Amino acid sequence: MRLLLLAPPGAGKGTQGERLATRYGVRHIAAGDLLRAEAQADTPADRQIAAYQARGDLVPDQIVLDALTPVVVAAAAHGGYILDGFPRTLPQAEAAAELAARLGVTLDAAIYLYAPDEVLTRRLLDRAGQGGRADDVADVIQHRLQVFAETTGPLVPYYTQRGILVAVDADQPPDSVTADIQAGLSGLGLTCPDGHEGGTRA
Ligand code: ADP
Repeated sequence: MRLLLLAPPGAGKGTQGERLATRYGVRHIAAGDLLRAEAQADTPADRQIAAYQARGDLVPDQIVLDALTPVVVAAAAHGGYILDGFPRTLPQAEAAAELAARLGVTLDAAIYLYAPDEVLTRRLLDRAGQGGRADDVADVIQHRLQVFAETTGPLVPYYTQRGILVAVDADQPPDSVTADIQAGLSGLGLTCPDGHEGGTRA
């Protein structure tokens, strides 16, 4: 199974990504986590990644592609992946599609989790209150939401045109979001690995 989670900050991609990865027995590839880990290294290039993340700006496409491509290729050889936060720009989506076509492993579905900005902001501020991330502060949250709307938003029509978009209301309890994702995947002919709804699409 090869899925992409497309969602603004605070929509719950991490939670749903982990659940889907467990369910389908594939790797959960969280772009933000991988880049945060890379940013820990002490080279000028890595410190640059940390600076983009701290501001809530996207890390440049080439850096992201260099970091993510080997991970995606390795996961593709082991049954698939749940991509969380990658691709996040049209050039990244085009590069990812090219790579997937070359490997013969195109995306099964792109799951778009949506919720009102007020809900997303409240969740991120709550997370900040529980010792969350350095970029969970009001002005950076605001900027991340704007970057999502402007730069990642265009991926919604891109995957709609490819006929693989599943849009799910993320302003619900996590279990309801998971159930809606499963229903959306079934609607695309993609089914659970437990046998009740058949296998994944050939
Ligand atoms: P969130 O979706 O809550 O912002 P993430 O952990 O997915 O959290 O991303 C955090 C930050 O990591 C982003 O603000 C951005 O700086 C960087 N990042 C993550 N994924 C990408 C990507 N695909 N392209 C560019 N930058 C990215």
